[in-house]
Amino acid sequence: LHMAVLKSEKMEVISQLAASISHEVRNPLTVTRGFLQLLKDHNIEPIKRSYYLDTALEELNRAEVIISDYLTFAKPHPSDINTIYIKDVINKAVELIIPYANHYSVRVLLDGKEDAPVKGDASKVQQCLINILKNGVEAMPQGGILSIRLDITTNFCYIHIVDSGIGMTEEEVARLGEPYFSTKEGKGTGLGMMVVFRIIEGMNGKVEIKSKVGKGTHFIISIPTIKI
Ligand code: ADP
Ligand code: MG
Repeated sequence: LHMAVLKSEKMEVISQLAASISHEVRNPLTVTRGFLQLLKDHNIEPIKRSYYLDTALEELNRAEVIISDYLTFAKPHPSDINTIYIKDVINKAVELIIPYANHYSVRVLLDGKEDAPVKGDASKVQQCLINILKNGVEAMPQGGILSIRLDITTNFCYIHIVDSGIGMTEEEVARLGEPYFSTKEGKGTGLGMMVVFRIIEGMNGKVEIKSKVGKGTHFIISIPTIKI
């Protein structure tokens, strides 16, 4: 009975995510449609025309950013729960973030020799790591070092992700994962961390954050390992 309950809770998480995506993307699409409709008018002044076009394009961009926070790597459904090796997933996520990191002169360091099996959906775990790594890069606009370390204990794996960026106040840390909480005026969605918390909690894992303004941020994701 207990197992069945867990499973349906996980399904709930997935369908909630899918529902959120369509909800989030609808807004910018509606705005885009509105401006495109205005552009049908042939007598429109050039200044207005270019404003409408720019706004429509910006909103389309926004729709794309929202989608990428949710599921660049995670397939929307159905969830693929397997035995996965966490280090493989970390390696993939790091590989994917490197071009983005290079663009901001951020060096990515990877550490941890052991690997461990966990139960989960590899593409969703990868999405979590990417969302956190991306925030790490964005916290260091002048460049810096982003380090990832994997520690394994008897029952858990711990993924440490550390940046030396702008850091957060206590209030900001407390608001992490709250939908739409973003300090990146206009550029952020405030959805990346919400996705992280939902997915990790869905795996019976935890996300801990230590941060200091001006010093940087340290994320620790812990996930139960399984015995094979
Ligand atoms: P977004 O990145 O779109 O703003 P997220 O949910 O990914 O949304 O992050 C929410 C907010 O948390 C960010 O806007 C930022 O203020 C803060 N944040 C997250 N990660 C970091 C970090 N590594 N360093 C500093 N601030 C961070
Ligand atoms: Mg983000």
